[in-house]
Amino acid sequence: MAQSLPEPTVAALARGLAAGRYSAVELTRACLARVEAAQPQLNAFITITAEAALAAAAAADAARAAGRAGPLTGVPIAHKDIFCTSDVRTTCGSKMLANFVSPYDATIVSKLAAAGTVNLGKLNMDEFAMGSSNETSHFGPVRNPWDTARVPGGSSGGSAAAVAARIAPAATATDTGGSIRQPAALCGVTGIKPTYGRVSRYGMIAFASSLDQAGLITVSAEDAALLLGAMAGFDPRDSTSVDSPVPDYAAALDAPLAGLRIGLVREFFEKGLDAECEARIREAIAVYEKLGARVQEVSCPNLPLSVPTYYVVAPAECSSNLARFDGVRFGHRCESPRNLTDLYSRSRGEGFGAEVKRRIMTGTYVLSAGYYDAYYLKAQRVRQLISADFARAFESVDLLLGPTSPTTAFEIGAKVDDPITMYLNDIYTIGANLAGLPGMSIPVGFAGGLPVGLQLIGPHFSEARMLNAAHRYQLETDWHLRAPAAFA
Ligand code: GLN
Repeated sequence: MAQSLPEPTVAALARGLAAGRYSAVELTRACLARVEAAQPQLNAFITITAEAALAAAAAADAARAAGRAGPLTGVPIAHKDIFCTSDVRTTCGSKMLANFVSPYDATIVSKLAAAGTVNLGKLNMDEFAMGSSNETSHFGPVRNPWDTARVPGGSSGGSAAAVAARIAPAATATDTGGSIRQPAALCGVTGIKPTYGRVSRYGMIAFASSLDQAGLITVSAEDAALLLGAMAGFDPRDSTSVDSPVPDYAAALDAPLAGLRIGLVREFFEKGLDAECEARIREAIAVYEKLGARVQEVSCPNLPLSVPTYYVVAPAECSSNLARFDGVRFGHRCESPRNLTDLYSRSRGEGFGAEVKRRIMTGTYVLSAGYYDAYYLKAQRVRQLISADFARAFESVDLLLGPTSPTTAFEIGAKVDDPITMYLNDIYTIGANLAGLPGMSIPVGFAGGLPVGLQLIGPHFSEARMLNAAHRYQLETDWHLRAPAAFA
């Protein structure tokens, strides 16, 4: 593996850059060398933008020399390939968009660029963010740096693998049903899915619009706080973006946890959770108790319905969102179509992979006349019940803690032919999306040599409190600083 980065975290790299210990160009070169060296093993990137990255790094160095540097100037990051970029293709992990170059940048791409970060390239992902293992990507699976025979989780598998292997200090990601938190857990890194509406979705290719949210995968909660501050905020171009001030997340990190009321959702511990993973979760909760938090059990009786509810709502929205990829306005077009119907059906048939087709068909079915009430409307009602369960829990606790994923990373190929088993991977994460709540996953140790993640779920707009709770845990432990030996 190429030489390691001078420091493991964004916070430390930002200090190193400010102190002049290295330039942004030197740091970007070091990252790019690691990106290239790891690519054959991990396949974390779909597109590497070395030249543009070096130009952005040179601009960052010039800004610093001119006294115009901000806290993130010159920090290298990478974007999930679901965020539109005007200088390089955005594939969304699909053959459908293999050559698509957007006419504009996603809001978070321009915000992070304006903050001075340097984009290393576009990260691999499940096709249209549908998956839990990064095996549905048209560009091939991503491998878990802790064991390259295993999946990194999904759909933000490239983001999680890149940060875990310390080839990009931080990465953007998206979470519709767990796609930030679950890969963060499986790769031993920190992931945050903010409150629905906290971060703009403009320029983020839509999967299920009422659930999709942009967030981050980082080494530490402190890094997530620094980057979220630059990413979050109202965007007039996204009608679901919320117009409320962005708190200073970094300033809130150190607050003491004494008196913090933590809830353990009983239903999360009832069945299906691997025993060794549960042991790590309980140990992490004990650390919180030592820090002065008070732990109590709460019940969210409708939460076990979150997977079936999600697999009605998400496919319904996806079937509508993905209608635009028709070979005319967007996307892959088949060779010599015979007529319009042939053009549509062959372009879509060739452009989409099996999982995306399964979702479109399910979604079309649940929205069709006669089935709408039985499935879609019913799912929306259950969604309300799940939200109400969370609201009730947050009357007596400040944060919910529990597992992120039922098991550690599984082997590549182990679940691809069994969609239901694959879907059950998100049993603990989907609830937060259905209710629009913020969630995080932080590394809390290992089971059988593979990372285990603790999930934190908070009330709407409680990111500052959640990051604070994650940071205090990370001051007590060093799980988040462990990196896989092969990539050290
Ligand atoms: N694994 C879930 C799915 O396949 C969630 C994906 C996501 O959050 N983007 O839909």
